[in-house]
Amino acid sequence: MRVVLLGPPGAGKGTQAELIVAKFGIPHISTGDIFRQHVANQTPLGKKVKAILDSGGLVSDEVVMELVADRINQEDCAGGFLLDGVPRTTKQAEILRSVLSEKGQTISRVVKISVAEDVLLERIRGRSAEGEDSRSDDSAEVASHRYQVYVEQTAPVAEFYQEEGTLSEVDGVGSVDEVFHRISTVLQ
Ligand code: AMP
Repeated sequence: MRVVLLGPPGAGKGTQAELIVAKFGIPHISTGDIFRQHVANQTPLGKKVKAILDSGGLVSDEVVMELVADRINQEDCAGGFLLDGVPRTTKQAEILRSVLSEKGQTISRVVKISVAEDVLLERIRGRSAEGEDSRSDDSAEVASHRYQVYVEQTAPVAEFYQEEGTLSEVDGVGSVDEVFHRISTVLQ
């Protein structure tokens, strides 16, 4: 099963992603985690993308999709995978489609976790105030910038998959268990 998890920042993608991969036994591919690891290890890529992550902007489509293509070509992804945080632009979605089609594969299902804007901004502000767990891209200004970037660049990705017929929208308001139950129903 090859799944894409979509949704605005603050929708609970990370939490739901962990539950999905545990239940379905597929690798979790989070481009945000990959970039944060590079930043922490101060690799050449990490140094290149640090300022972009800190500002809440997007890393270039080419850089992201080269990483993703390498990752999904690894053996542990043969039986499927969960993409979390990618594609974030329609260009990335197009590149993903062509990388998969070279292997005779397609995305099985795209799950979009939907949450209203006011609820999201409240959640993101809460996360930025969490202290030691807070991320360097979680200040209130960066949070609203990330949301803006989502609206402009990533929301159209849902339309891309809607046209393809693979999109399922799930209500992201409720307990973690409730939302996970909705997602599981869609994926079964
Ligand atoms: P995330 O943890 O998914 O919110 O990602 C954290 C940051 O990494 C984002 O704000 C972007 O700067 C960068 N990033 C992660 N995934 C992508 C992507 N698919 N395209 C561009 N930038 C990305």
